[in-house]
Amino acid sequence: MVSRPEYYRSDHQNELVNMLKKRGRALLSQMALADQTREDQVGDIVTFIRNQNINFSNICYVGCKFCAFAAHEGSSHAYRMSQEELEKQALLAQQRKVSEICSTAGIDPKSDLEHYKSVLKTFSANAPNVHIHAFSPFEIYHLAKKEDQEYDTIIDELKSAGLKTLCGTAAEILVQRVRDVLCPNKMTVDEWIEVVKIAHSKGLRSTATVMYGHIETVEDIAEHIQIIRGIQEETKGFTEFIPLPFIHYNTQIYRIGKARAGSTGMEDMALLSASRIYLGDVIPNLQSSWVKTGMKFATLALVAGVNDLGGTLFEERISRFAGATHGVYQSENEFIRFILDANRIPARRDTFYNILEIFNETEKPYQIQLL
Ligand code: SF4
Repeated sequence: MVSRPEYYRSDHQNELVNMLKKRGRALLSQMALADQTREDQVGDIVTFIRNQNINFSNICYVGCKFCAFAAHEGSSHAYRMSQEELEKQALLAQQRKVSEICSTAGIDPKSDLEHYKSVLKTFSANAPNVHIHAFSPFEIYHLAKKEDQEYDTIIDELKSAGLKTLCGTAAEILVQRVRDVLCPNKMTVDEWIEVVKIAHSKGLRSTATVMYGHIETVEDIAEHIQIIRGIQEETKGFTEFIPLPFIHYNTQIYRIGKARAGSTGMEDMALLSASRIYLGDVIPNLQSSWVKTGMKFATLALVAGVNDLGGTLFEERISRFAGATHGVYQSENEFIRFILDANRIPARRDTFYNILEIFNETEKPYQIQLL
């Protein structure tokens, strides 16, 4: 007997599996419905955020089999940012006038709560007006275990040190059977749900993600999406939903022949359009990841229900170490150029999707900016 999460509903499961399997003209019709739903729910504005990624350490012994970012202490690509490097990165964020620092790290045995708080304080001191969006639910879990404290306490401590929102990563696929293969040493489905719900209840909102294209089935993705919807109905804490296609090249699970070589474009379109149709009324913001798929594909997804393209990033190591080749920086002018060509309205947003600036084609010619 397979155990189902509390949010599982067989009628929703069937509807989602159906949508995730759509191909050909049936998929085109679904994308058109998702596009119409997007227009009704959020209009024609397409957002992006001026943000900077800071992955402050990749030292990690958890051994998730899909991860090419982690390294053991002393190995050739291991790094841990020094205090000077953290300060330099935060100062760069300030100079670049980003509205968000996005920061996560591996589960570094040398990182304790004090270190996490000092990272936050370094960001706040050197980039005082920049929103800090950081740490996965697994980092919260790790700190709670390491410090022998409740999740509540860890979250309170991090909030008081400057944490404003939580990354919705470490979700991968919220099906225990899949996690037992993909990341057996990571937190369980129930633990991920618990941390996220506690964070939301304490006013610490988060993104929601799914990582797909490896060993999961469409049924697993459908179950995952139902969990995300169920949490959102209770907490209203998710700011957006971000499907993240698996980057396979340098990962152990792909090299030993146990995982697919990432998703196909059809799978991506089916998932994005299904996400808009199924989640859009509770999570109106749906992001397509240019880091994973490139700008051309990410912006093609604007006709499948997407209304957000993520951030400028400036720096990105997790996907790059896994073999992604789409770069680590996207200029605002590139976002604007692609969005205008989709006959939509480009706008810069903050982490909570407040619009900071709308770009009007007639007022200013947007050209490709050479770096
Ligand atoms: S996904 Fe995170 S926890 Fe897992 S091995 Fe990579 S860095 Fe460590």
